[in-house]
Amino acid sequence: MRRATLPMGEDPALYHGVRKRLFVGLLICTSILVCLILFLFWLFPLLDMGAVHPILPWLYMSVIVLLMAVVAWTSLGVVLNIALRKPVLGSRRMRSMTIRFFLPLMEMLGNAVGISKEKVRHSFIRVNNELVRSEARRYSPKDVLILLPHCLQKTLCSRRLNNIENCRRCGECPIDGLLGLGEKYGVHVAVATGGTVARRIIVDCRPKCILAVACERDLASGIQDAFPIPVYGVLNERPHGPCRDTLVSLEQLEEALLFFLKKE
Ligand code: SF4
Repeated sequence: MRRATLPMGEDPALYHGVRKRLFVGLLICTSILVCLILFLFWLFPLLDMGAVHPILPWLYMSVIVLLMAVVAWTSLGVVLNIALRKPVLGSRRMRSMTIRFFLPLMEMLGNAVGISKEKVRHSFIRVNNELVRSEARRYSPKDVLILLPHCLQKTLCSRRLNNIENCRRCGECPIDGLLGLGEKYGVHVAVATGGTVARRIIVDCRPKCILAVACERDLASGIQDAFPIPVYGVLNERPHGPCRDTLVSLEQLEEALLFFLKKE
């Protein structure tokens, strides 16, 4: 189960060649567009504010300039964070802005210029992982959760993994190896059958750091849902198509665990 394989029917260039620069390019373009829209609001205010109160136009202008500064600083900060591989001032807030505000806009912009959502999300996950790593926090094993999608379970297996202890460790699918990883490092391992279950697991487990395995769509939404808990995303591999007998690289997960766990 340790070998990486390409998802069936996917372009290798899409899977391996999606670069951070796609995200950076889209982020910069989105920021410029947002700033332009704000500038238009400045040039053409919806109300004649001076007629209401002489100070209102100044207040309005200050708010617009402040918003433009926040947008510009966020995109510049994320780019610097990626380039320097260390947090710059306010990086946590930038991750929040990037996740909550920019990603949906970037998906729309990408869609408008013919870049698939999947490609944008893939690129976002890579950048998110860099931002999470650059915060350089280390956690006790009890505070780390490995959250898995149920499509890792072999289709023919009848075990109900709402309690992962139900797995009889036959080795026919990656769940066995992942349970072994959890035991080796003493971290929580859980399988989520959907977003609601994933949220419930997070509420019950109260992790301070999540290593999540999923496809682009579920990882991107999971990273958004779990914020402010840092989520390090590992893409699953889909040799049999989506949502069926998927795989994951144990090496990649173990490497991430070794990075995030406190050296005790
Ligand atoms: S390892 Fe566990 S989940 Fe996977 S097929 Fe065997 S019993 Fe089922």
